[in-house]
Amino acid sequence: MKEEVAKKYSSRTSTVLFSFLEKYRGIVILLFCLPASFIYERFLILRNWIYWNLLANPKKHDERVKIVQDQVIRWNKSGSTQPMCTARSEWLSMGPKIADFKKDCHRIAINLRDILEVDTKKQTIRVEPLVTMGQVTQHLVPMGWAFAVMVEMEDLTAGGLVMGVGMETNSHHWGLIQDTVVAYEVVLGDGTLVRATAEENKDLFYALPWSHGTLGFLVAVELKIIPVKPYMHLTYIPCHSLDEMCKLTESLSIADDGPEFLEVTVYSKEKSVVMVGEFADVKTKEQKAKINHCNYWFKPWFYKHAESFLKSGKNDEYIPLRHYYHRHTRSIFWELEQLVPFGNNPVYRWLLGWLGAPKISFIKLTSTPSIQRATAELHVVQDLILPINELKRSVLIFHEIFEIYPLLIYPIRIYDYGKYQGFLRKPENLLPGRNYGMFYDIGAYGTPRAVRKKEPWNANESIRKVEKYARDVKGYQCLYTDIFATREEFEEMFDHTLYKEMRRKYKAEKAFPMVYDKVKPLWK
Ligand SMILES: Cc1cc2nc3c(=O)[nH]c(=O)nc-3n(C[C@H](O)[C@H](O)[C@H](O)COP(=O)(O)OP(=O)(O)OC[C@H]3O[C@@H](n4cnc5c(N)ncnc54)[C@H](O)[C@@H]3O)c2cc1C
Repeated sequence: MKEEVAKKYSSRTSTVLFSFLEKYRGIVILLFCLPASFIYERFLILRNWIYWNLLANPKKHDERVKIVQDQVIRWNKSGSTQPMCTARSEWLSMGPKIADFKKDCHRIAINLRDILEVDTKKQTIRVEPLVTMGQVTQHLVPMGWAFAVMVEMEDLTAGGLVMGVGMETNSHHWGLIQDTVVAYEVVLGDGTLVRATAEENKDLFYALPWSHGTLGFLVAVELKIIPVKPYMHLTYIPCHSLDEMCKLTESLSIADDGPEFLEVTVYSKEKSVVMVGEFADVKTKEQKAKINHCNYWFKPWFYKHAESFLKSGKNDEYIPLRHYYHRHTRSIFWELEQLVPFGNNPVYRWLLGWLGAPKISFIKLTSTPSIQRATAELHVVQDLILPINELKRSVLIFHEIFEIYPLLIYPIRIYDYGKYQGFLRKPENLLPGRNYGMFYDIGAYGTPRAVRKKEPWNANESIRKVEKYARDVKGYQCLYTDIFATREEFEEMFDHTLYKEMRRKYKAEKAFPMVYDKVKPLWK
């Protein structure tokens, strides 16, 4: 690997820069990534405010879409054999991988980053693909609305989530974010602009989720919004055995009167905290006394705070809604601890916590190829979506293979869409009288035990084991994670029937790469 890197970046300046970035990783994060993220975030807030208050004009959107169409038409006329992809630099996207497929693609610039319309009567919002979750909550929550599935990390984009996958702690109620899409507006491989809804271009509508921009370029998406209240009434229920957690989570996720929000953080094989939430107003003195602005810079990281209920016992709080929606942004779930080990120390929080978390983009920008490879080989980022009856077994398997804690668990509905099933197959565990089966996401992010203990660890072998487990139980792997499956195994996990039909019908075969070619293993 060292030779490859040396060949690719052979100038003296690059070599000096790379060794600096590798040797002083912590300092680079602290002195560059953190301040740059802080300044960039302020710039974006100002830019979005100016756009919405002074410049917003639907006609401008049409003009920007025309620019995308013109680029696609020019590609068609050029007779190029290079497939197309978005020009967004890989370091800007939130996925931890820096894939290299873009170097073989013709890049189309899609500078579409604005909220276009909010229709509270129809309960929909129309946004451009680069609109971020932070931008949406800033705009909608003060109006008393939110996406039906309002995904956590502030920098995730609407386009990336609906073309990839998006889940939240109310996915047991709504499904994935793509299940809340009302309409996609897409520029096809020949430059035509089409709208796909459950009635219009229905086949395309159901094939777009998980397609990762390989059926067309998304230029706008209309999503369902729901009325919200200013607070989340969150109850923390500590569980002291794996059986207790599994029984509670499974029953709450399918109960007709189950909670609106449901999340589990697993701190060890036997210890976890189940969190159930409902939208709430805060009126009484007792309620006011329980308000927790959990995202203030001096507060402990949310998952650490939740862990404290293992000792103190069941309790509840009222969390201001935007704080709840982005409760894991400040600590990047539990990843920040590895980059800034003292980040949750009260002294650091009070003095520098206001800088917020470093943006994933800046962390990626300062990752040399050696750091990227080490991250993939010595660090795990895995999310599997599995049928709910696998909950106990999956925790045990993750314990045996990774032994990384905390683990994240979000229950999720997977719908039966009949002949329009798309990438996810018809669930085999349909609930009686319902058109959905209950699944859950289990996420492991961190350094596996073997690496921590300096024992032999083979990322390829270990991840392949959990991939096989997911295939065997008819589950799925989130595609932003490290994937080691072969093309055949990938096509066994995801149903490509409708997808391939749509690639033929909508002239995508030459125009765009296949999903596998975008997410396949970077290293063997
Ligand atoms: C720290 C972290 C936390 C996360 N938390 C969550 C979470 O809570 N819930 C969750 O569901 N997921 C979560 N994710 C995963 C997330 O769903 C993926 O990273 C996803 O890919 C979205 O990232 P993005 O917005 O940067 O999109 P990108 O990675 O840029 O895009 C995803 C795919 O969609 C394609 N695409 C994007 N825009 C367009 C367009 N306009 N036209 C055509 N194709 C397009 C891209 O080419 C790419 O293939 C998390 C990821 C990280 C790193």
